[in-house]
Amino acid sequence: PSMVRGKSDRGDTSVVVVVLETNEVYIVVSLSTAGDTQVICVDPTTGALRHQGKQGEDLFDSEAAALKHITNGSRFLSKSTTYAKAVLGYAVLGSYALLLVATQLSATVPRLPGGGCIYTVAESQWVKIQLQNPQPQGSGELKNIKDLADLDIDGKYYFCETRDITRPFPSRMAIQEPDEEFVWNAWLSRPFKDIGLPGHCVILLQGFAECRNFGATGQQGGLVALIARRSRLHPGTRYLARGLNACSGTGNEVECEQIVWAPQKGGQVIPFNSYIWRRGTIPIWWGAEIKNAVSVEAEIYVADDPYNGTLQYYQRLGRRYGNKSSEVNATSKKKPGMVPIVCVNLLRYAEGKPETILVEHFKESLKYLKSTGKLGNTWIQLINYDWHATVKLKGQQQTVEGLWRHLKAPTMAIGFSEGNYYSVKQQLNECKGSIICNGDGGFCMDNIQNGVVRFNCADSLDRTNAANAMFGLSTSRNSEYNGRSARSLPPGWEERFDSVTGKSFYIDHNTRTTSWEHPCQEAPHKRWKRFDMTFEQFKSSTMLAPVNHLAEIFLLAGDIHATLYTGSKAMHSEILNIFKEETGKFSKFSAAQNVKITLQRRFHNYMNDSSRQKQFEMFLGLRLYKHLPSIPIFPLKVLSRPSGCMLKPVPCITPMADGGSSLLSFKKKDIVWVCQQGADYVELFIYLGEPCHVSQLLLTVSHGVEDSSYPATVDVRVGSSIDALKLVVEGACIPQCSNGTNLLIPLTGRIHPEDLAVTGNSARPDVQESTYLPLLYDFEELEGEVNFLNRVVALSFHPSPMARTAITLGEIEVLGVSLPWVDMLTNSKGVAQVLELLHEKAYTPRDLALRNIADSSSPGNDVHGSERSYTRSSPSVQPGGSGNFVDFLTGDIDVPNQSKITGNTSFGNEDQTNFFDDEFDVNPFATSSEEPVAEVNNHGKSLNFEQMMKLEIKRLYLDLSAAERDRALLSIGVIPATVDPNRSVDYSYLLKLSSLTDKLALLGHSVFEDRANASIGLEKVNSHAVDFWNISENGESCSGGACEVRAVSSLQASATSGSTSLFVECSQCERTACKACCAGKGAFLLLGNTYRDLKIYGGNQGGGYSALADSSVCKSCCNEMIKQALYVDYVRVLHSMRRKGRAEKAALKAVNQVCQLEPNRISDSVHSVQSGLRQLKQLLDDEESLAEFPHASFLHTVETADDSAPLFSLLAPLGSGVHKSYWKAPQGNTSVEFPIVLGGISDVSGVAIIVSSCGYSTSDCPIVEIWASNKIQRDDRTFIGKWDVQSMIVSSPQLYGPENSGSLDEAPRHFKLHFPNPIRCRIISIKMTLPQIGSSSTKFNEDFSDLLSLDESSFIDSKANNSHNSFIHAKRIVVFGSSLPKEMGPDTSVAIMRMRSYVDGSPSFGRFRIPVEAERLRDHDLVLEQYLLPNSPGIAGFRLDSFGVIRPRVTHSPLPSELDMKECSLIRMEDRHLNPAILHIQVTVVKESGKLVVEEYRLPEVKANTPLYFDFSDLQQDARCVIFRLLGDVTAFVDDIAEIDGLSLRNLPLASGLSLSNKVKLYYYADTYEMGKIGSLSAV
Ligand SMILES: [Zn+2]
Ligand SMILES: [Zn+2]
Repeated sequence: PSMVRGKSDRGDTSVVVVVLETNEVYIVVSLSTAGDTQVICVDPTTGALRHQGKQGEDLFDSEAAALKHITNGSRFLSKSTTYAKAVLGYAVLGSYALLLVATQLSATVPRLPGGGCIYTVAESQWVKIQLQNPQPQGSGELKNIKDLADLDIDGKYYFCETRDITRPFPSRMAIQEPDEEFVWNAWLSRPFKDIGLPGHCVILLQGFAECRNFGATGQQGGLVALIARRSRLHPGTRYLARGLNACSGTGNEVECEQIVWAPQKGGQVIPFNSYIWRRGTIPIWWGAEIKNAVSVEAEIYVADDPYNGTLQYYQRLGRRYGNKSSEVNATSKKKPGMVPIVCVNLLRYAEGKPETILVEHFKESLKYLKSTGKLGNTWIQLINYDWHATVKLKGQQQTVEGLWRHLKAPTMAIGFSEGNYYSVKQQLNECKGSIICNGDGGFCMDNIQNGVVRFNCADSLDRTNAANAMFGLSTSRNSEYNGRSARSLPPGWEERFDSVTGKSFYIDHNTRTTSWEHPCQEAPHKRWKRFDMTFEQFKSSTMLAPVNHLAEIFLLAGDIHATLYTGSKAMHSEILNIFKEETGKFSKFSAAQNVKITLQRRFHNYMNDSSRQKQFEMFLGLRLYKHLPSIPIFPLKVLSRPSGCMLKPVPCITPMADGGSSLLSFKKKDIVWVCQQGADYVELFIYLGEPCHVSQLLLTVSHGVEDSSYPATVDVRVGSSIDALKLVVEGACIPQCSNGTNLLIPLTGRIHPEDLAVTGNSARPDVQESTYLPLLYDFEELEGEVNFLNRVVALSFHPSPMARTAITLGEIEVLGVSLPWVDMLTNSKGVAQVLELLHEKAYTPRDLALRNIADSSSPGNDVHGSERSYTRSSPSVQPGGSGNFVDFLTGDIDVPNQSKITGNTSFGNEDQTNFFDDEFDVNPFATSSEEPVAEVNNHGKSLNFEQMMKLEIKRLYLDLSAAERDRALLSIGVIPATVDPNRSVDYSYLLKLSSLTDKLALLGHSVFEDRANASIGLEKVNSHAVDFWNISENGESCSGGACEVRAVSSLQASATSGSTSLFVECSQCERTACKACCAGKGAFLLLGNTYRDLKIYGGNQGGGYSALADSSVCKSCCNEMIKQALYVDYVRVLHSMRRKGRAEKAALKAVNQVCQLEPNRISDSVHSVQSGLRQLKQLLDDEESLAEFPHASFLHTVETADDSAPLFSLLAPLGSGVHKSYWKAPQGNTSVEFPIVLGGISDVSGVAIIVSSCGYSTSDCPIVEIWASNKIQRDDRTFIGKWDVQSMIVSSPQLYGPENSGSLDEAPRHFKLHFPNPIRCRIISIKMTLPQIGSSSTKFNEDFSDLLSLDESSFIDSKANNSHNSFIHAKRIVVFGSSLPKEMGPDTSVAIMRMRSYVDGSPSFGRFRIPVEAERLRDHDLVLEQYLLPNSPGIAGFRLDSFGVIRPRVTHSPLPSELDMKECSLIRMEDRHLNPAILHIQVTVVKESGKLVVEEYRLPEVKANTPLYFDFSDLQQDARCVIFRLLGDVTAFVDDIAEIDGLSLRNLPLASGLSLSNKVKLYYYADTYEMGKIGSLSAV
């Protein structure tokens, strides 16, 4: 990869952020390194970035062309335009998206040797983008988002667009492979990586980069740059980030690099040298706390286990500074391969000083490290140098001299990096050192620094600054390069020419000596002489001008570091001026300055440290589950635009040219669509731009003055084509609300009615039982079908019975999860990934790589997802893993454990019996018919909590749904509710347990996050034998032997289970415990006694816990509740794995329905994908392919032969799937019609048919007829032509007979059907008919009135007896022509205006409140009873203000696969989108007559406190009492973070925001004029 791309003459990078009047946002980027301009579109609903790389649509030759396209000339006005010079990051945060751009840059290091400019961000701006996403978000989250946008960026961050500057100069790595330790926007830049534009967001470093020219005035001397990189491993502020953290990083850790080089002249060689050192706080676990804002000293704490992580810290340094090419390291005096790390400790260590304890521990930590013997080649030396004491005692000058003396030897051992840059590669041939290539040229390294000096004081602040600067000054060898130009001399020196020798000599008038050597020229043997100098010698031997320049940038750097850490400038930096001042004395002014800064800092730190810490964490994407708990990591996509359309015209009072597609357009978001008056319902058929799993329907409420005109309910059907629609929700309630309200209707996949019957809400024996709260986990989880090929969404809107006008509609969006099809089908890397996934079958619960996903469902066949027929390859099954399942039910614990599961045992719904051993009486997972109905342990005891959890674990290992479990249980006479753990413990215990489990989940995520960061710069660490939960499936027994705990009774004394005995030490009782007697790692996190160390471990920042995650605790040292919390968390984790597994299976199924992939032929597939792209290009001959999957699809399913390639393969990109395979119709189908919906409105000029590998014979050359249309109605279509393929290809004998195994690079065999003229359309219907059939079959097609009415009988007609053995077949159908820009429908604004005026008029009726006599809340405020006064008016409905709750993303600790840090799958789908939480409100009206009226409403999601009005279907007269009851997934919600504290997300059993208190008001309708003044008081 080239680090410096050809320098184009376009100049600097330009970024324009355009916000249109419609609130659409576009990011227009023209990179300095590229010749073109990319437009990145921000989805106005989800905030997702979109870029397709399509010329003329989002890829342009120039910025001007791009801007013109966006504003469409000037048709769309732009509301605001931001001009910027770099994109620094982007994040979608629920209702907002934040885009960070740099509006002003300063080129602080304009040109590094070998090219590359370092820009410091001088001014930046957060562009805040309001999104239409109505997902409720709390005010606490919103405040945190605001805080993030307040983060101070300017002057403290820098980047380089063309080369890697995260590593010591010069880096060997490419720009896109930075060292993550120093990248501060890794999280914020991810959205750009995800759309394939990684270079469009810079790699941002925090710290300082400056450069100075040190030639005397008017001279081109040398250049010196100081680059300081702050580590991100322990980000944060002074009192919260000290010492080590769980990522083995220390607070305020900075790498400093000083680069000196001669300016380049022409094509000259550039000599350079660089030196690197490091600074940070003491690398042990310690902390400090300010007692209050004015106290003088902070109190210092040292952790109980202060050296945890020190090893990793030094290992990381060793890896970074170890010189890998030791052969060039001439100066290294150490043993080859040793990496010296020299720690210079500047703390006070006199007796009685508070810092002394840290010095002692520092020494101890090094002893400890040596004792571990794990340091390898890293060699650590500690130099204690009490800076303050020495200054006091000896003055500044001698302090500096002393430092130099101390550092001479180590610095010599470490050496410098030096070398030359050659701009032409050939020049490198003579290089003797190691070579680092760089574009056309390269660096020849004469020497590479090996090891590092590291400075610290307590904070890595002022003392460190001062010592750093003095050290840096003495190591800078800037004078060397002066020799090349006119040399400048130190004051008092003179240069003379000796005519005898022809050489210059130098007179030092200060000392009255002469020398042949230039005073600034350092001979190699004198290289280190400055370390021996006195201060005065240094001054007189060195040119002061450059030193002062350098001192100046050290001063600046010190201030930046101090500001980042403490919020104030550096102190005690007056020492840096000692070269300027004659005396070098401590000035009075500085003393006063220091006192002022001290006070400032104290106050600042006390007040702001924690909020600044939070800002840094959010900036880095850390602890988001805490700061922004409801933010999804993978937001959904809007799939109904830009290329979605309406398949049928939407009825309308006024003719609309676009047939309703403007209802899908964001540009027309304020549309009021008026359907005709008096309709019973309005039906919409939406074709999505991409196939997806449909997750949400988002409606923008739109009406005239009467809000009742908007529909009251909606039915949703989805399917992969119009004939495969399935009902997913019926009668979803749409409350009445104000214009423009966004209502989100969460959808599940279709739920099988059988499942619905046995489990879930509707199966609950007593719906009134609202006291039941499944706080531990959803025991009755209903699973909807997951289908990633859904393409058509049909909506039926029904008006409210009270509606007084025509139905109105507004913007409609369909959100879902789509697979990365384009990547998977046409990008060779993506193809390889899918195949690997197929191969590995990731994400089956447990190590459930137990099975091949030999998902045999035939292509195109939508069967309910229960046709599992997995083969079970059992080696990875734990011995005895299946056995004890039943004994929990029978109560017979003492069943001998024998596992006879060997070989392949298949199980599925129909065939699970043999999974269980015959010796068991009862098998709950067998179908009832095959099992004797058993008497279930009437004699035995009922299950205890642990047994119930084990039953669930077993169930999830078997990968059974709750419904399957319930059926199995019912079949043996067990009522599922009796084994529900949520019911097995008493209520107050349930609360405690669930809140403990929630806490564990958050701690687990801290551990996960820290572990991921801790691995940066280090080799991967092996995972531990005892995992997070250590749940033993089979009631493992104590292995005895060395185990001192014996917490688990060993029923079988002779249990030699073969498992290698593993012993750990309990951190509490310090006894040795065997694996079975040890609690999971998670238990340690929950132990109360770790809280004492919290101050050191990061307090409620949660940072420190994870350092403890490697500690173990035995089972007898932790209480029951902790053990049970681990069980609950484990079951939640398995639940989540099951969901992921379901999504993965659905994805693989979808892939197989498009093209059959062969997992064992990755390299072939990659190759054929590449040649497919070439073939297509050849075939298209400059035209566009318009009907490629996933953009295009079939409108209805086409009957396909059993041994055919899948139907979608006809449209799949060339090269995907199996090379020889092709599509065929069933034998006997003599006529087939393919209705293809194109990717967008296009001008179609023809169709190409790629011939199957079997080729044509005389009997199967079809007759092809083609129609074009825009909508699905038959009368809309236009006949294009009829082609007799046989007569066409008479002259093409190569199309006959089986294909020769030709090369993949040849164009495939095909024929083209050109249209007489290009036709503008959206749908192309291609009918193929076998020639020999009589005329009867074509008649059927003429009668074909509406594709919607397509039924089975019409097909049968076409299957006329065919005596021949021929069938219709094809390899691919390619439609070609040119596509039209998206969202460029006809101008409909006049018609839209007309519709709006139709519904404008004054409302006559208003809603008025019905007063209540009394009200009562019960059942955790989920039930509200309102008692009415006698003679109250009839109730028309009620107003409900929506709840201020959020749904947290984190509900369990990370999955084992995440903990292992394996790459995640292709399917980016969050649990909550697969299993949405849906609330219902049930209303019971109690009448005076005693009669009850019950109604139930499914609640949409809306922003908090939105008033929603629900009309009853009838007016409720004579009501005495109205009871409101909140039902559904109430336990899935929590309160906004502003209202909760500390670590726990849930203080109450339920979110207090779900309380019905003050949320409900009853109303009646009345004429607003008649109500007059009274009305305005009681309006609702
Ligand atoms: Zn044991
Ligand atoms: Zn113990």
